[in-house]
Amino acid sequence: MSVHTLTLLGSTGSIGTSTLDVVSRHPNRFRIFALAGHTRTSVLAQQCAAHRPRYAVVAGEKEAAELRRLLAQQNSDTEVLHGAQALSDVASAPEVTGVMAAIVGAAGLAPTLAAAAAGKTVFLANKETLVMSGRLFMDTARQNRARILPVDSEHNAVYQVLPRDFNGDLDAHGIDNIILTASGGPFLHTDLREFDAITPAQAVKHPNWAMGQKISVDSATMMNKGLELIEAHWLFSCPPARLEAVIHPQSVIHSMVRYRDGSVLAQMGVPDMRTPIAYCLGLPERIASGAAKLDFAALGGLTFHQPDFARFPCLKLAYDAMHAGGFAPCVLNAANEAAVAAFLRGQIRFTDIARTVAHALEHVPAGEPESIAALVSADTETRARAEAFFQAA
Ligand code: NAD
Ligand code: MG
Repeated sequence: MSVHTLTLLGSTGSIGTSTLDVVSRHPNRFRIFALAGHTRTSVLAQQCAAHRPRYAVVAGEKEAAELRRLLAQQNSDTEVLHGAQALSDVASAPEVTGVMAAIVGAAGLAPTLAAAAAGKTVFLANKETLVMSGRLFMDTARQNRARILPVDSEHNAVYQVLPRDFNGDLDAHGIDNIILTASGGPFLHTDLREFDAITPAQAVKHPNWAMGQKISVDSATMMNKGLELIEAHWLFSCPPARLEAVIHPQSVIHSMVRYRDGSVLAQMGVPDMRTPIAYCLGLPERIASGAAKLDFAALGGLTFHQPDFARFPCLKLAYDAMHAGGFAPCVLNAANEAAVAAFLRGQIRFTDIARTVAHALEHVPAGEPESIAALVSADTETRARAEAFFQAA
């Protein structure tokens, strides 16, 4: 049995709480070294009471003071840290063997990279890290013998049906394509004339998955699938032309690999993130996750169809950015994050998300990203450009 000492980045979010649910089922397998919860201090205090981590990390001094007050009431030994450097420190500490990277957005880049640079096993939920810095991140992981295990359900599915000794060479393993499935989100059948009036409350109501707000909006625009194509490109060394996305509204098949001989291998299950989380945490063993059994008799049909770029322009923009390479995926991600935040606070319309991203992609810096600093500066510039675009809109 492998025993992990874990740091959970983003412990208070949807993936973070699902991870702690799985961890609770296996008290002898996992020790919690650090929990990082940003601003949700009361949830973090409850998690500290249940899991007794050495460290808890929050955003700033104000949250740290609040968390210390809450922990004092429960006689906790947990030490409270704050700030971005603390995130990287708990992700790379020598005691830690595994890091769950479940912070949302570009804020997850630095600590996830720190975990890879320290040679940890990285349970990767934060897809934005790979979209921003794919080549640099994968190189860092390789050079430091960090193991990257995909938590994202599609990539986890692909990982499960790839050959065990897969080395990134599709042809050598007889693989033709990697096929990501997508639910199509809440607006798969909505009249296109109603898209301008879509509200944040409608957009975050996903038909199959309960997730954080940002990824829920990304699923509604299908930018999520676009980010996931780029994620798959880096994780599996898969050329863009050999990646496919297909709409499968039931979210039962989580993704597939098409082999040269005509075989297509799929991974199935109920839509519950505890399954891919448990797969990653338990490797090489299979451990209980708490997910319900897939009931074939109750399933009815499984259906599939092609995504429509007129309905989902963000998916097309992501394909374009993936093909363009260089800084384009980083710009795509930054513009999307800024636009989704503006949409959620009621500043722009749903349809302005794609407009913002398209505008940003007209201003991609030339050349290849050679450093994280260059990527962070492209990210910052893109956010400023997006804010100016919202003002003008
Ligand atoms: P969430 O919004 O529920 O949680 C985000 C977590 O990040 C919280 O713990 C929050 O406190 C923390 N956080 C937010 N901003 C931060 C910052 N600036 N610095 C430090 N911490 C910060 O999000 P989620 O749905 O759990 O998603 C997390 C990541 O996992 C995302 O990258 C998402 O794309 C990916 N993912 C999520 C799911 C899912 O089912 N929820 C599935 C696949 C992939
Ligand atoms: Mg996914």
